[in-house]
Amino acid sequence: MGPHSGAAVGMSLRIAFDNSFARLPDRLFAPQSPTPVPNPDLIALNAPLARSLGLDPAELASADGLAMLSGNTLPAGAQPLAQAYAGHQFGGFVPQLGDGRAILLGEVIDDHGTRQDIQLKGAGRTPFSRGGDGRAWLGPVMREYLVSEAMHVLGVPTTRALAAVTTGATILRDTGPVPGAILTRVAPSHIRVGTFQYFAVRQDTAALEALLAYSCTRHFPTAHDAFSLLQATITAQAHLIAQWMGLGFIHGVMNTDNAHIGGLTIDYGPCAFMDGYNPNQVFSSIDHMGRYAYANQPQIAVWNMAQFATALLPLMGPRDAAIERATEIVHTFPTLYETAWAAKFRAKLGLIGEDAGDIALIDDFLALMATENADFTRSFRGLANGTTWAEFKDPAGFEIWNARWQARLASTPTPPNTPPLEQRLATANPAYIPRNHQIAAAITAGLSGDFAPFHRIAAVWARPYETQPGAEDLALSPAPNQVVHATFCGT
Ligand code: AMP
Ligand code: MG
Repeated sequence: MGPHSGAAVGMSLRIAFDNSFARLPDRLFAPQSPTPVPNPDLIALNAPLARSLGLDPAELASADGLAMLSGNTLPAGAQPLAQAYAGHQFGGFVPQLGDGRAILLGEVIDDHGTRQDIQLKGAGRTPFSRGGDGRAWLGPVMREYLVSEAMHVLGVPTTRALAAVTTGATILRDTGPVPGAILTRVAPSHIRVGTFQYFAVRQDTAALEALLAYSCTRHFPTAHDAFSLLQATITAQAHLIAQWMGLGFIHGVMNTDNAHIGGLTIDYGPCAFMDGYNPNQVFSSIDHMGRYAYANQPQIAVWNMAQFATALLPLMGPRDAAIERATEIVHTFPTLYETAWAAKFRAKLGLIGEDAGDIALIDDFLALMATENADFTRSFRGLANGTTWAEFKDPAGFEIWNARWQARLASTPTPPNTPPLEQRLATANPAYIPRNHQIAAAITAGLSGDFAPFHRIAAVWARPYETQPGAEDLALSPAPNQVVHATFCGT
């Protein structure tokens, strides 16, 4: 399909596109228009995000806006394309993946001066679709919208969701026919470790060079060569994984094509927040080996960064010296990660300053939770109002730990203007996180045309640190019959 054989060009939306990726060497992408859909309908529009992009929410929600969000018309100035990338999937290298169902419409500069991609996910086949239909179904689109926006308010770097629409078409998945949907994803780029790998494996150094310069400009303006980009990405990834760990978040599919070079969370396929704490928890129904279990995430991130270093080697000068220096940079990950992790969990315990016993204090709390499979989010949140003991069947162990924690809190003088402990704890430990059973219930309702539960949880998750009257049920762990054990890649 040629570049403009799909959607018609619509003239009414005013979007100030400036498409830098489309100006890169043409082997980095394939021009590709979205494929029109029969009967689009708007599920959700993110008005604050729209405004930050200089877009008018009312216009986006109009018939013209819906036509764009469903891929039925192209706004003036769009240069739709599918990006090329490769990737290690569950450790095995696939030399060609690419956007098989995502189409970049173009880029705009947001109100912070940051260049943002506007991408339709589920907009039809591309030259990278292989056997796939190029579509997404309603469940994963609702899921990504909810979870990526929750991650954003929880302070975790992430791609975002501008809109979700149904297409009016039925598509086929393993489970049977399901409604098609499209997510409009917004991100300060969609460049992955796998984007570099695609050109490294083809020994296309010129493309790698273009990608290096482009990545530095978009993500790390102070980086100027392959070494400094590698270091910047590693620093960002170490910070990112520490944030995930602090929320009990399991990404589920940390393949190198899902490792963003800007250190953003990308790809919300089989992800989940843990309910009961179990460091070996996996959610992906295809992760039989536990490769992407909660506790493995830091190691997998290092492995992904080593693949990034390997892909950058052709840009690093004489090979032996390059390998040595790149290895040193990869080896900075553990310390960067441990520092970010300790800061995150110190904050979660309301600790001020640093004490030699802090790591043991944190580890011992986590170990207690693991022994009883205590609810991760509720156990931490309960520290703010003294209810954590109730998360344990045998609170005696917790009380011993609690005495140590109190002693540590009492041992450090509080600098002036420090918020009170309760407030520190309540702003470091969310009351509401996107729990799997709540997402599942919203999807089930959505499948029968009822999006009220979706909008309700989206509104509650937008203020995760505030106790919200009427939302008590959303702060609960799942009942045994509500527990979701696996989420599916059948996206
Ligand atoms: P993901 O599991 O979403 O990270 O996707 C892995 C690869 O499969 C990427 O190249 C996707 O573009 C591609 N892919 C996933 N689902 C589809 C689909 N329904 N149609 C075409 N390509 C797909
Ligand atoms: Mg992906």
